Amino acid sequence: MNLLSLLAQALGVVILADFAAGVVHWLEDAYGSEDTPVVGALLIRPNIVHHHCPRYFTRLSWWQSSWDLLLLGALIIGGAAWADLLTWHVWLFVLLSVNANQVHKWSHMSRGEVGPVVAKLQDWRILLTPRQHAVHHTDPKNTYYCPITNLVNPALEAVRFWDCLESVIETLTGATHRQDTSNRGEGPAPVWIAGYRRPSRPVDAPADLDAEPEGVR
Ligand SMILES: [Zn+2]
Ligand SMILES: [Zn+2]
Repeated sequence: MNLLSLLAQALGVVILADFAAGVVHWLEDAYGSEDTPVVGALLIRPNIVHHHCPRYFTRLSWWQSSWDLLLLGALIIGGAAWADLLTWHVWLFVLLSVNANQVHKWSHMSRGEVGPVVAKLQDWRILLTPRQHAVHHTDPKNTYYCPITNLVNPALEAVRFWDCLESVIETLTGATHRQDTSNRGEGPAPVWIAGYRRPSRPVDAPADLDAEPEGVR
């Protein structure tokens, strides 16, 4: 196998991992309810918190933000091994997917907080940049769901992928994108959100994502 083919395959895995993480994020944002048993408290509530208080999760450890993805990654590795399909592609997919929330978290942190290596990877557009991710945090917060790279979001937006998908789902099931109380005019915020609002802004935090999320870009 030549190097070019190897790089093309690796790029394909990166795109797939970013897309898969975007789909999960979209499902949580668009259709998850905090009242859903188990999943509501574990997965949906943190998403609601994230839209209201975008920098809250920067106080959490890797483990606190990624334990669920690690569990999912272990299941994928186990399943692939059982089916005798455990190639480097699967390992790379799982490595990226398990760290999707961490890469997302870096896009909410200042250059000083992430350190020079991650800042450089963001400068080179290899990792999701704060500027691109700010589009997701702009009302009505219904696009740019992919959290790993800058590659996939603009391509999906160009074909209005998420809008089309939601239209198809609405036609088939009647289900619509749930109310996002962090959007201007869609409140009020849940009362419990107040418990997450603590001042935490470092001096060099990116102003657009540190502020309340309405209207940033
Ligand atoms: Zn979101
Ligand atoms: Zn975010």
